Amino acid sequence: MKTRTAALQSIRDKSFDLCVIGGGATGLGSALDAQLRGLSTVLVDAGDFVSQTSSASTKLVHGGVRYLQQALAEVDYQQFQMVRKALKERIHLLGAAPYLARPLTLLVPCYSRLQMFYIAAGMKIYDLIAGDARLSPSRILSRADAEATIPSLRMDKVVGAVTYADGQFDDARYGLALAKTSAQLGCELINYVRIVGFDHTPDGKLAAAYAEDTISGDRFKIAARTFLNCTGPFADGIRLLANPLATPRLRMSKGIHILLPLDTLRSDTALLIPKTDDGRVIFAIPWFGSLLVGTTEDEIEQATDLVATDHEIAYLLKYINRYLNTTFTSSDIQAAFAGVRPLVASTGKVNTKKLVRDHEVEIDGASGLISVIGGKWTTYRAMAEDGIDHVERKLGRAKSASSTRSQPLTGAPGYTASHWQHLVSQYGLSEHVAKHMAQKFGTDALQVVETIRSEPGLSESVFPGSDVLAGEVLYCIREEMPQSIEDMLARRVGIQVHNWNHAIAAAPVVGSLLGRELGWSPEATDQAIHAYIAKVQAWASKAAIPLNAAHTHSS
Ligand SMILES: Cc1cc2nc3c(=O)[nH]c(=O)nc-3n(C[C@H](O)[C@H](O)[C@H](O)COP(=O)(O)OP(=O)(O)OC[C@H]3O[C@@H](n4cnc5c(N)ncnc54)[C@H](O)[C@@H]3O)c2cc1C
Repeated sequence: MKTRTAALQSIRDKSFDLCVIGGGATGLGSALDAQLRGLSTVLVDAGDFVSQTSSASTKLVHGGVRYLQQALAEVDYQQFQMVRKALKERIHLLGAAPYLARPLTLLVPCYSRLQMFYIAAGMKIYDLIAGDARLSPSRILSRADAEATIPSLRMDKVVGAVTYADGQFDDARYGLALAKTSAQLGCELINYVRIVGFDHTPDGKLAAAYAEDTISGDRFKIAARTFLNCTGPFADGIRLLANPLATPRLRMSKGIHILLPLDTLRSDTALLIPKTDDGRVIFAIPWFGSLLVGTTEDEIEQATDLVATDHEIAYLLKYINRYLNTTFTSSDIQAAFAGVRPLVASTGKVNTKKLVRDHEVEIDGASGLISVIGGKWTTYRAMAEDGIDHVERKLGRAKSASSTRSQPLTGAPGYTASHWQHLVSQYGLSEHVAKHMAQKFGTDALQVVETIRSEPGLSESVFPGSDVLAGEVLYCIREEMPQSIEDMLARRVGIQVHNWNHAIAAAPVVGSLLGRELGWSPEATDQAIHAYIAKVQAWASKAAIPLNAAHTHSS
């Protein structure tokens, strides 16, 4: 990708066919689709790319067994179709960047023969409706096989289990791979640029957007023929900027996750806790070396200051300790994160758990703003295709075919599961570092290796024992536009998502490299490091998670 300064210059100088507002799954997928169809495209995000909902998901690539259950229980054809569509998209997502996504086996424990029959029948329907897009078939397990599959499963009253397959992925890096692929095709993308208003033509149509660079405070105009609102849970804000008479459509539902040590699970199979006391499902998923547990669901009014609270964490710990032979406490929690589901409200006060997770493309008649709202990560490609079909219609172009289904993402061409071995044998990386790099960058890991070799000292870990090397951080700074320590640790290299103590330990090296490359003064660099550490400590305090006192920074 360009540097942020170069991207700003290009965006100010040009006029575009399409301006995509929002750099989460929906916006990044839409920008790629538009660019592939030959539309000159710019994408802006108010914060970092993939920094909101799209990096706070359960990281499942799924049709949604829970939605299938609702579809069957309520004889709801719309939900059924949504699951079927998502199962088709599941295969695309797994194939477009195989280094970031993979199939996952999940186990549902059963507590009566009747329940086992009901779940097994549901999973067979899940297999069937996937059709050609199916992964491995679901299976019924005896009690002994269930215990052998997840040895830490609490076996009291378990009569057997059902296993089924879905996918899992690295949501933040997937978003970045979409951004980089679009940039390689000529799309302009920039982070930390917020849309704060619109210029309208005399007949009320959108003519240009007012943008604010949230780092420098500068304001400028973005000229485009169409505007696509992909701001997820914040979509009503843009809809109201375009047309103050628009009716709010979004309902927000907060969900948190916690990260625990994986070794306690003693399995590669994920656990689906089928029913909480309030009728939800919770997942405990092996995810890149940690156990990811989530999620909660609470309707909220404002999506600001999103952090996991001690109350929400206690809810997840209660269920994980009920279903596993564990006594996890808050001191076992390595990290936590929170996000907001963008759910499209129809009318009335329907419970957010019941709102359909499908998407909708809305065209505001007065302003011409096109909004893609709702949906889920798994269906981002289909949502983007739908949105760009509408953009083409608005531009008066003949509808062209979307080619995103056959577009591999950067790092995917030539990738095989043994790519890490090549990194070990050709470049002498340790097995751990090579696996980490192959999983984050695919075949682009070779560019990371080149960066590491460009300067002495870059093969050092960012903190003792880390798989992340200083050269990987430098590569990301130069190629992926991070502007802060959090951008780097949360989304580029992922340390913050797994372990807050490690994130604090890595902050000095990451901050120094960012400061050097982005031209920060030594004082500003030190301030950024301290501010980041204080932020992580504040999250831990709100979540009542004790941090390791050894990880502090002195200047
Ligand atoms: C707890 C939870 C678990 C989930 N689990 C799964 C799962 O396992 N699988 C799955 O498929 N889906 C899952 N989802 C759903 C999925 O994560 C979301 O549907 C998807 O990420 C939404 O992407 P988005 O791009 O629409 O929104 P976001 O990712 O929120 O992106 C919107 C972007 O718009 C930007 N923005 C806002 N205002 C402005 C402005 N004025 N100017 C410029 N930019 C602006 C924001 O900074 C943000 O980056 C989950 C969601 C949650 C909350």
